[in-house]
Amino acid sequence: MPATDGPFECDSCGTTVAFEDARRTKTMGGLDPTKWQTLCCPNCGTRLQTVYVGD
Ligand SMILES: [Zn+2]
Repeated sequence: MPATDGPFECDSCGTTVAFEDARRTKTMGGLDPTKWQTLCCPNCGTRLQTVYVGD
């Protein structure tokens, strides 16, 4: 299971993004959106990490 506490470093623009600052989007690939969300960089929109947000 991936770590969900961050912070995450954006490979694209180098911004360090705190978990609560990341943009959250639905995952691609049909994962359950109530359990998995994709975190995106608020600065450039690059996908940072897909995290498990369910129980
Ligand atoms: Zn970025």
